[in-house]
Amino acid sequence: MPLVSMRQLLDEAAQGAYGVGAFNVNNMEQIQAIMEAARETKSPAIVQASRGARSYSQDRFLYHLMLAATELYPEIPTVLHLDHGNSVETCKSAIAMGFTSVMMDGSLMPDGKTPSTFEYNVKATREVVETAHSKGITVEGEIGCLGGIEDGHGAGLDALSHLTDPDQAVEFVRQTGVDALAIAIGTSHGAYKFTKKPTGETLKMDRLLEIHRRLPNTHLVMHGSSSVPKELQDIINQYGGKLKPTWGVPIEEIQLGIKNGVRKINVDTDNRLAMTGAIRKVFWEKPEEFDPRSYLKPARDAMKKVVAQRMTQFGQAGHAGDYAPISLEEMAKRYQQHLTA
Ligand SMILES: [Zn+2]
Repeated sequence: MPLVSMRQLLDEAAQGAYGVGAFNVNNMEQIQAIMEAARETKSPAIVQASRGARSYSQDRFLYHLMLAATELYPEIPTVLHLDHGNSVETCKSAIAMGFTSVMMDGSLMPDGKTPSTFEYNVKATREVVETAHSKGITVEGEIGCLGGIEDGHGAGLDALSHLTDPDQAVEFVRQTGVDALAIAIGTSHGAYKFTKKPTGETLKMDRLLEIHRRLPNTHLVMHGSSSVPKELQDIINQYGGKLKPTWGVPIEEIQLGIKNGVRKINVDTDNRLAMTGAIRKVFWEKPEEFDPRSYLKPARDAMKKVVAQRMTQFGQAGHAGDYAPISLEEMAKRYQQHLTA
């Protein structure tokens, strides 16, 4: 089947009361790991690429790899989503390329660092919604800002200084018409999210519950939601790595979110840790190896294992065959009818 809209996957997830993991990719092995995990667990799949990933891979490589994925895994409803589009132009270029879903992150200015105003966010997101929906493409927006890693998106922001305000969230959804909404509840991008197991003081699940109560029909998105398991940190450090102790978002908190409107969960760090750990292990144990396949294959297997585990924990496992894909043309028609209804 062709790439499908994210809106359909999330609507189905809402009906079935489960969440769908969105996993970041930069290369072939990561796409293969996700698709293999989806096949093994019979899960729908959201594959996402950030601006950094698009520039790393020259995004036409990624796009054509995704077309290969739809040919080789025809039974898996698969979305290609732009993660953290920083401007209307970035989103439009992704739509032109063939992405079936885009995130317009207008919570930050186009530099990806400076928190923006509510008015700027609404205007930029609204513009993307108009273009995207006319083509049946899904839009995710963000209100409030996540904590950031040094060189990445939202660099240097404190995770608790720009939490999502529930009143603003309601107004934002009303004014933009987004399909999905990313909220800031204390999580951060990168491996160093929490200095100890998070509590209600650092991970504001009560804020999420309040937003869901106010927006019961909006698909909520949790960013920065790797669990950063100790086992994966240990493998890296056991084979010469130097990670500092850190804590991620516990699976049980994500599952509480899924019971309360969370339909998309972004996971990147856990897969990075799994791949790097597997590669370090080969380098450590077999220093005579020099065929890249000797370490890329274990790396791919390690990522597949983590993705399959998350797909099972989020509840999307077993749901790949629940529905026939709705074409983007049909989605565009539905948006049009909804607007004029
Ligand atoms: Zn994010």
